[in-house]
Amino acid sequence: MKSTETPHAVFISTHLDDVALSCSRCVQNNRAPTVVTVLAGAPDALVTNEWNSRTTGKDYAPDAIGVRLEEDAAAMRLLGAKAIWLGFLDKTYMSGERQDEEAIADELVAVLAAQKAETVFVPLGIVDSDHVTVGRACIKLVMRLDGPRFLFYTDQPYGTVSPKSVAARLSELHDLGVNLQEVPSVGPVDDGIRDVAFRCYATQYGPITDEFGPSYDASKEQYWQIS
Ligand SMILES: [Zn+2]
Repeated sequence: MKSTETPHAVFISTHLDDVALSCSRCVQNNRAPTVVTVLAGAPDALVTNEWNSRTTGKDYAPDAIGVRLEEDAAAMRLLGAKAIWLGFLDKTYMSGERQDEEAIADELVAVLAAQKAETVFVPLGIVDSDHVTVGRACIKLVMRLDGPRFLFYTDQPYGTVSPKSVAARLSELHDLGVNLQEVPSVGPVDDGIRDVAFRCYATQYGPITDEFGPSYDASKEQYWQIS
């Protein structure tokens, strides 16, 4: 078994698509994986001209998120993973406020216990403010839980766009007493599955590949273990 393959693996995803973008190959190579998306909620409101409404063409937030949930369900079926969606809102629905990291951590603790997670893949939490928030919530898990083994993954394509933000986050984590070492043996690099999985997110594929271009093409899965 390679060091990123394990039964009862749970992957924490910031948005509906992040684990597909960052960990598709690893998800597919695990047995009975579960992917928990944190910011998968929708307010009961019309919210126009923000990311979810623009990309899905739906202004009523539950409809917009409904489209994105269906896309995620299809991607998870493709990867052989069970999807769990938490009801926290992404930043486009938060009017400038940030989600409460403690509340996210509390809910994740309950989910991980219910799933009997043995290995938990968490995002470094870089660049995008939602990713930073979820990354910080995940550090609380690392501090609180003795049971599961934690592995970190690089949020892609952000890590490829900004290697500096990866280095800055590693240094921040070092200051918190969490020293990360890149996992060397994740097997041959073949991101073909990432593109197939990400195409399940039909409303996101065009906007994301347009925005990130060569960085999307170049981004690879990258994992870190606590040393
Ligand atoms: Zn994201």
